[in-house]
Amino acid sequence: MSADGLESSSAPPSAPQKVGHPMWLLAELTYKCPLHCVFCYNPIDYTNTFNDELSTEEWICVLKEGREIGAVQLGLSGGEPLMRDDLETIIGEAHQMGYYTNLITSGVGLTEPRIKAMKAAGLDHIQLSFQDSTREMNDFLSSTRTFDLKNKVAQLIKQYDYPMVFNCVIHRLNIDHIDKILDMAENMEAEYVELANTQYYAWAHVNRDHLLPTHEQLIRAEKIADEYKARLGNKMRIFFVAPDFYENRPKACMNGWGSVFTVVTADGALLPCHEARMLPGINFPNVRERGLKWAWYESEAFNKYRGDDWMQEPCRSCPEKTKDFGGCRCQAFLLTGDATNADPVCDKSQHHEVVLAARDNAARKSNVIPSKPISFRNDKNSRQLSADGIV
Ligand code: SF4
Ligand code: SF4
Repeated sequence: MSADGLESSSAPPSAPQKVGHPMWLLAELTYKCPLHCVFCYNPIDYTNTFNDELSTEEWICVLKEGREIGAVQLGLSGGEPLMRDDLETIIGEAHQMGYYTNLITSGVGLTEPRIKAMKAAGLDHIQLSFQDSTREMNDFLSSTRTFDLKNKVAQLIKQYDYPMVFNCVIHRLNIDHIDKILDMAENMEAEYVELANTQYYAWAHVNRDHLLPTHEQLIRAEKIADEYKARLGNKMRIFFVAPDFYENRPKACMNGWGSVFTVVTADGALLPCHEARMLPGINFPNVRERGLKWAWYESEAFNKYRGDDWMQEPCRSCPEKTKDFGGCRCQAFLLTGDATNADPVCDKSQHHEVVLAARDNAARKSNVIPSKPISFRNDKNSRQLSADGIV
């Protein structure tokens, strides 16, 4: 037993990590978005990037570099990527380079001429997000009147022979509609449905009291999703992504820091995940200064949490560290103030009580409207991070 009472004898020895190449490149083309979602994953200081977005040429250059070092999957995201009028050009260039291109969109701005142009440019895949099965909740959560428009876009996606990939972020305000959400997806003849339970970063972190479901809600929703899965099988493949706040082990975040995934932000920062920029004390490279290859292999930022030298106990001597890499660095920082701690979702973490308290809080508030007002992502609410990065 180690001094803190944790078993360490079965810990695998540390080995130098061989750095592979990125498979995925997520291009956050812009943080502009006509919607104002209460769970938005964009940084809460997103307006800082508005006057500093990468140009078309800069995007083409970074995409080229991505292919040169092995990236094959390209996510085109935002904000709303359709806010960029060079989206079709970027898709065309990416297609020529050999990327598999995936547009991640709210649907706002996806007109017939644009989908036609994107199809001609070689776009492979479109993922359309909904907020709920009801117009009222969809429009409330996004603070826009977009429900009917999204339904029209879903028809366009089918009309242009794309598989219908339906995404809905799940939380306390819509989780009890899970059957209706799945009915809606089935009526749209969706081939894939992602029911992604909210990850509590950025705006969702600000609004967590409103959004974290109770355990009972979660169990019911998962059971219904399983029933639909059993009935629909491969006709409509359903992915129910459980919220890690109700797990006792953390997710293997990004399959490990700087392992297979890289993000290029609207203003050119290179990150190992889309939330990482809030971590203090890390100088993330920018494509305008250094190349992607250098950033991936050489930069201090991408090497910071590779391997396990950075780990503290209990992760350092834990036999599970090769499975989950100690969980999510951003969640560890947001919930404990130190990114080198174990992700407190883990029940071995000395900070696990913060997660238990959030669960208790959700259970207590299940029938009560939280006193803190819900915060819609909009330019007025966009704010500076405090010095320690915590909202
Ligand atoms: S989560 Fe909502 S507000 Fe944020 S980028 Fe997506 S559609 Fe826009
Ligand atoms: S988070 Fe750390 S302590 Fe918990 S299982 Fe993973 S490696 Fe082990």
